[in-house]
Amino acid sequence: MNKYHIITYGCQMNEHDSENIAGLLEAMGYVYEEDPYDSDVVVINTCSVRENADKRFFGVLGQFKKKRRNDPDFILCVCGCMPQQPRIVEKINKQFSWVDIVFGTQNIAKFPELLEKRIRTGRRQREIIDNNPVIDEQEMKPKRMFRHKALVNITYGCNNFCTYCIVPYTRGREKSRMLQDIVREISCLAADGVREVMLLGQNVDSYRDAVGHDFADLLHAVNDIDGIIRIRFMTSHPKDISDRMIDCFRTCDKLCHNIHLPVQAGSDRVLKRMNRHYDTARYLEIVDKLRAAAPDITMSTDIIVGFPGETEEDFEATLDIARKVRYDSAFTFIYSPREGTPAARFTDQIPDEVCHDRFDRLVDVMNSISLEKNLEYKGRTYEVLVEGVSKTEDNAYAGRTDGFKLVNFTSDKTPDEIIGTLVNVQITESKTFSLEGVEVERN
Ligand code: SF4
Repeated sequence: MNKYHIITYGCQMNEHDSENIAGLLEAMGYVYEEDPYDSDVVVINTCSVRENADKRFFGVLGQFKKKRRNDPDFILCVCGCMPQQPRIVEKINKQFSWVDIVFGTQNIAKFPELLEKRIRTGRRQREIIDNNPVIDEQEMKPKRMFRHKALVNITYGCNNFCTYCIVPYTRGREKSRMLQDIVREISCLAADGVREVMLLGQNVDSYRDAVGHDFADLLHAVNDIDGIIRIRFMTSHPKDISDRMIDCFRTCDKLCHNIHLPVQAGSDRVLKRMNRHYDTARYLEIVDKLRAAAPDITMSTDIIVGFPGETEEDFEATLDIARKVRYDSAFTFIYSPREGTPAARFTDQIPDEVCHDRFDRLVDVMNSISLEKNLEYKGRTYEVLVEGVSKTEDNAYAGRTDGFKLVNFTSDKTPDEIIGTLVNVQITESKTFSLEGVEVERN
């Protein structure tokens, strides 16, 4: 049996791409191997978003050089956002020419053909395209990470060009899948035992298919699918979120009361330079509307500190909006330039020590709000969809509330009995990033 291993960096889009790649490899007869150094094929699915992404990526590539030299049948493949940048492919070809296969984010379906060609001819394969007009998910048979929940792409690419972001350059212009294709895919998933779907797009709020269905239409259509009990989505963009979409929190009973709504900064001046197309007043108006539609909604966000030109006053405005919204959780980042983006050319970059000081202050504020919010859960009982055994607590299971709170809890049930089911959990302890509890009988 030939064995494969996939190393995945980055967002849920990449995770889902890796599920698709795993499905393609298994259809070719490969089996999953835990140890990359004991595998016949290794795929590195890369991300360009994180700080020092290039350095880390080339470091990981270098670690396979010895195996590649000692084992002529070993095949190393690189895909994801990195190879969509010509300078990266040039560097791979010059300095890491022993990499066997390089393919882009938009031609994953061609991977089996490239692998077969590499095996047959022994020649290295490179296939990177921009803006593939047709991405046929129906042809993919992803090997899903979970039995009971699934990631489902609804759009690809992004048209927004936030000045700090590399994604529009690596994933191409935005394309929406047809509503009926998404519904067909989710209906099959439901028949296969999936209970929760996460609808994925760089900006789900700009979803519009070729016959004019928008994101609210899609949510209603998914809400009607038998067998699905929870619907989530990621990521929203404040500039495109509509009142019709917000109203879905009232009208779609399966839509989880949780939203990830990136704010990025609390200063209108910085938001403008980021090319985000909303100001803080508009953002806060959306938050109010969401809370009116679903008073128990939980919210998370992304925040960048140290964006070029950010003054102390701008940063205080970010702390201010964080305190006003009182997010349940936040992904906080120190700005770091991405080659090829407009912000990387801004001349007023912020010194490292200022960035780190602001970052620490922001994390303190965010964490104390998260803990305060989690303390409100103590003593109450919540429905939890069980994901698996706990990674942090011995003899415990882990699951998520409707509001996406991570709960580690104890139960008398066996993994086979409980994983993938909804159980009632009484919360006994609240931490900053998770809750603890014990399963209790349903009323
Ligand atoms: S919306 Fe902005 S931050 Fe998000 S992927 Fe598009 S360009 Fe990047």
